[in-house]
Amino acid sequence: MTAEGPMPDDKLPDAPFWRTKKMSAMTPAEWESLCDGCGRCCLNKLTDVDTNETVYTDVGCKLLDGQSCRCTDYPNRQAKVRDCVRLTPRNIRRLTWLPPTCGYRLVAEGRDLAWWHPLKSGSAQTVHDAGISVRGKVAASEVDVPDERLEDFIVKWPGRWPKGSRGSAKPSDTVAGAGAVKPVAKAAAAPAARPVIAAVKERVRRVLKG
Ligand code: SF4
Ligand code: SF4
Repeated sequence: MTAEGPMPDDKLPDAPFWRTKKMSAMTPAEWESLCDGCGRCCLNKLTDVDTNETVYTDVGCKLLDGQSCRCTDYPNRQAKVRDCVRLTPRNIRRLTWLPPTCGYRLVAEGRDLAWWHPLKSGSAQTVHDAGISVRGKVAASEVDVPDERLEDFIVKWPGRWPKGSRGSAKPSDTVAGAGAVKPVAKAAAAPAARPVIAAVKERVRRVLKG
């Protein structure tokens, strides 16, 4: 594995693009399709000043739709939300607070996508069925919660895998080996008309200790 993600594995002749390509070599469409549409990264986060630990809240970005789990103005998101960060192969490893279920994080760590990822299942619905998405779990919008009250909304579930949801993305599935990038053997078909959130909300605020 390199800093850009998994290296090719000759033992996987029919492996899909996310198992064979460096992240930096992916096409824009491939890159965007790594997003499972969970919406977890669009929740506000806090960093503990003592431990440097980042914790999630269930307060959503003002542009997050808690039902669809999508950004309601994706083309203009960075103009409207200052701390919305575009994910790139260069910054993917810096964003250490990405949820463990995130497709970008999994691929960057050399792991396979889970069964519920739309690229695996062929359906955008499975991310909801598996309990990965934020659907029904967003307690409030940031427009209604002042910064000093964010601590009241700290939750642990965005940093965890729901029970029974792991599927194929287990550590044992880590891609091994190193070498040159081989041509894409078989790219999984991206679900049609699937909106994407290839951006994350880097709203990591310091928790002020009294
Ligand atoms: S980028 Fe955000 S919405 Fe997309 S898979 Fe990662 S955590 Fe989920
Ligand atoms: S993509 Fe950015 S602007 Fe859109 S909901 Fe997520 S964090 Fe907010």
